[in-house]
Amino acid sequence: MRTCASSSITDDPQPAAIWRPDAPPRFHLLAKPSGSTCNIDCKYCFFLSKEALYPNEKHRMSRATLETYIRQLLESHRMPEVTVAWQGGEPTLMKVEFFRHAVDFVEKYRKPGQIVKHTFQTNGILLDDEWCEFFKAHDFLVGLSVDGPREVHDTFRVDRRAQGTFDLVMNGWKQLCKHGVEFNILCTVNSANEHHGRSVYRFFRDELGAKWIQFIPIIERATEQTIQLANRGWSEQEGRKRVLYTQTGNLVTDRSVGARQYGLFLMDVFEEWVRRDVGRVFVQLFDVTLEAFFGRHLLCIHAPTCGLGPALEYNGDLYSCDHFVEPGYRLGNIHDTHMLELIASPEQRKFGLDKRDSLTAQCRNCKVRALCNGGCPKDRFALSRDGEAGHNYLCAGLELFFTQSRHAMETMAKLYHDGRPPSDVMETIAIEDKRRGPYVPCRCGSGRKFKFCHGNNTPRHPFDPGSSEAQRTS
Ligand code: SF4
Ligand code: SF4
Repeated sequence: MRTCASSSITDDPQPAAIWRPDAPPRFHLLAKPSGSTCNIDCKYCFFLSKEALYPNEKHRMSRATLETYIRQLLESHRMPEVTVAWQGGEPTLMKVEFFRHAVDFVEKYRKPGQIVKHTFQTNGILLDDEWCEFFKAHDFLVGLSVDGPREVHDTFRVDRRAQGTFDLVMNGWKQLCKHGVEFNILCTVNSANEHHGRSVYRFFRDELGAKWIQFIPIIERATEQTIQLANRGWSEQEGRKRVLYTQTGNLVTDRSVGARQYGLFLMDVFEEWVRRDVGRVFVQLFDVTLEAFFGRHLLCIHAPTCGLGPALEYNGDLYSCDHFVEPGYRLGNIHDTHMLELIASPEQRKFGLDKRDSLTAQCRNCKVRALCNGGCPKDRFALSRDGEAGHNYLCAGLELFFTQSRHAMETMAKLYHDGRPPSDVMETIAIEDKRRGPYVPCRCGSGRKFKFCHGNNTPRHPFDPGSSEAQRTS
């Protein structure tokens, strides 16, 4: 395996040789400057196992790789806006100084008129004044990983001593607020919070003041041979090293979200959002779904094809996608081949087109296909209704969400088309709720009457002892 130490930036491939008419004008690369190394040990995080790809190496991006990366990224883009996106592992392990160099390299290689945005995904634990002053000074958008209130966050997001990390993350959140840093919340949906969509959402909105929220389903695949090990977690356990996680097997761990439950979770959030928060809180999947009504696909997962979201490891190795950092999907190394050439390669094109070309018959004939597009290929390990292999594990939930939210989405799309704000949908829904009355089944699919479900606006903390939700949990 080539390491960055052997690279010389003067040898690096130059852009003149790689510009080609069929290269994508833009892409969204996720860079992992500390590889998969992290300072905590979340039980569902199979990314931790990726250290097995580079045994006996210190997973830290060198200055030379950093410069090559930034230069090639800016050279490659033919659209004015470029995003420099950092994630991990945990990128704060690289120290602020590394990112000061990144910002300097952006200034050095920025083309006239090019607008560069910086994003940074973190567990928040190491955030302090120095980090937040830096983020604020350079207008970083910081993604903070939180799975909900303490009761659910601490189930899986733990440190190496298996202690919950909620208090540490909240310290990081306070630092972001203190310095006025823009942040969004990245929340995984897993077996601990899958029944608490509305409560988790309210916590982010009301207690963290979040304006942007992203939900990511946890689906950890395993085989008959690996399921027991996988259920114990991806941590380094006594007597064994981590096992490299790959996208194989058609079983899922106990921590994974249930397929239909994922849809119910999304609807639980949606029915709250669509009555109160349209235009003031932005939930990524809701925005993406609304845009799809206009033929625009903002998220690879629900776009017809993908392949424009490669992942860069600390040593310059480029992989097809952050979810496919495994040997069969290594495109090459940016010290040997310009990243644009790797992204425009036949292998990567095939990777992206396979998303469309491998749809099952059930997907091809699905009523919500234009919104869903079969979801992410990494999740296609189930059987379709006709018994066809390669169907999306989450289908039951995706179909539920795209079907049940459709009426409100269509209303928002029409409002937008007519030059009115989509937030006017809240008036329409209020009128419809009144007309339907309190004792009809709630639209979220819970099976409860509206009055006792999304028609109930009690602001009480849902995890308080005695609340109906807390009783369901216990
Ligand atoms: S494999 Fe999934 S996450 Fe990766 S680029 Fe394709 S749709 Fe996106
Ligand atoms: S809802 Fe299910 S059947 Fe429809 S496109 Fe999505 S994964 Fe395929």
